[in-house]
Amino acid sequence: MFCSNCGKEISDNAYVCPGCGVKVRRNDPGEGPLGCWLGGVCFLWPIIGLILYLSWKEDKPLKAKSAGKAALWGFVIGVIFAIIYYGVIIASIASYGL
Ligand SMILES: [Zn+2]
Repeated sequence: MFCSNCGKEISDNAYVCPGCGVKVRRNDPGEGPLGCWLGGVCFLWPIIGLILYLSWKEDKPLKAKSAGKAALWGFVIGVIFAIIYYGVIIASIASYGL
């Protein structure tokens, strides 16, 4: 295989390129965007998405990115729903006249 950074030929099991020191990117079959169900998990529980993002960001940047994105969306939408939920509760308490 060849280094994607400098083009030097390197060993198939090399972890970093001996020519330029850049980490070798392998075509890892496990690497790729998240599957549907895992994206859903990250969306529903952003904390899980955050943990996956942190544990994958070195080895599986694509997966980490999609986990982080799903977690971020889940977090933002969760906050919006929480604001609406508490807004409705506060509004109904207020309308009952304390
Ligand atoms: Zn290189």
